[in-house]
Amino acid sequence: MKKTILSGMRPTGRLHIGHYVGALENWVSLQGDYQNYHLVADLHVLTTNTNTSNIEDYTLDMVMDWIASGIDPEKSPMFRQSQIKQHSELFLIFCMLITKSRLERNPTLKEQVRDMEIDNMIYGHLGYPVLQAADILLYKGNLVPVGEDQLSHIEITREIARKFNFEYGNVFPEPDPKLTKFSRLPGLDGKAKMSKSLGNTIFLSDAPEDIFASVKKAVTDTQKQRKNDPGRPEVCTVYTYHEKFNPAETETIAADCRSGALGCVDCKKRCATAISDFFEPIRERRAPLAANPEKVKEILLDGETKARKVAEETMRQVHEAMKLG
Ligand code: ATP
Ligand code: MG
Repeated sequence: MKKTILSGMRPTGRLHIGHYVGALENWVSLQGDYQNYHLVADLHVLTTNTNTSNIEDYTLDMVMDWIASGIDPEKSPMFRQSQIKQHSELFLIFCMLITKSRLERNPTLKEQVRDMEIDNMIYGHLGYPVLQAADILLYKGNLVPVGEDQLSHIEITREIARKFNFEYGNVFPEPDPKLTKFSRLPGLDGKAKMSKSLGNTIFLSDAPEDIFASVKKAVTDTQKQRKNDPGRPEVCTVYTYHEKFNPAETETIAADCRSGALGCVDCKKRCATAISDFFEPIRERRAPLAANPEKVKEILLDGETKARKVAEETMRQVHEAMKLG
């Protein structure tokens, strides 16, 4: 039997190319070898947003990106977390298997507190890795393809699975994370992570002219001030994008940047072209989906029927193991 992949994203805005290179690309490349399940983490949105008015639009937009990137609705159920009630029940049970101090030690949470300037954290935000553990283990996920910021959460998931199995009997696997080579794509502003909340993104569905405009304002090596100054590719965000999206030219670009033969304006144009070309097939596959959101809604309903069956069976096993009714 194929092993299971579970991975999801929050519908908090349009997907950016960091989401693609950090996670989505692996979802697609592993589909076939694994049984994939993909979660629209709409309940997770509530950890940082009280405004829910955009969730439906963002959900459809995100699922369009997933499908256009190559997730096949026939093979890989896609579903909204809020529509499968078992996530909430398993979350509640898992809340009893982890301490508050363990959750407070989570480095990703500390990073979020810093980046989003949160000074008074809600209870649900502290506990969101526990909900994530429920998301993964409800489908008995073996592999979780995610970006680097999620590693600490997979570790918490493993600890919860171990604790449950020890207390009640062996129900859950201990899932492994799966990173890509670009598990933390830097943002246009040079910050370590491209992120919606930091406003330093290129969106997956951006038109070529938007990609050009975004890359044009990207931060490069700040010591390279004039066109012919020698530059340092290793500190340049645009160079990182070349490495991912323009591998054939990377070596010459690095050499020409170092010697001062290549200026940033020209380098950025080549970078924007490469990014735009890379995502062209995705933009093309996306257009008919964008014209037919009803179809995407049907795909979600179908995915939810399939996911619910798995969730029900897991919860039956949980109840049996815990002698709960
Ligand atoms: P953002 O991080 O942009 O604010 P988010 O936190 O709402 O968005 P998530 O749903 O947490 O988005 O992220 C979805 C997936 O994309 C996760 O696996 C995450 O690790 C990955 N990811 C997000 N940003 C990046 C990035 N810059 N580089 C690599 N992977 C990323
Ligand atoms: Mg995130």
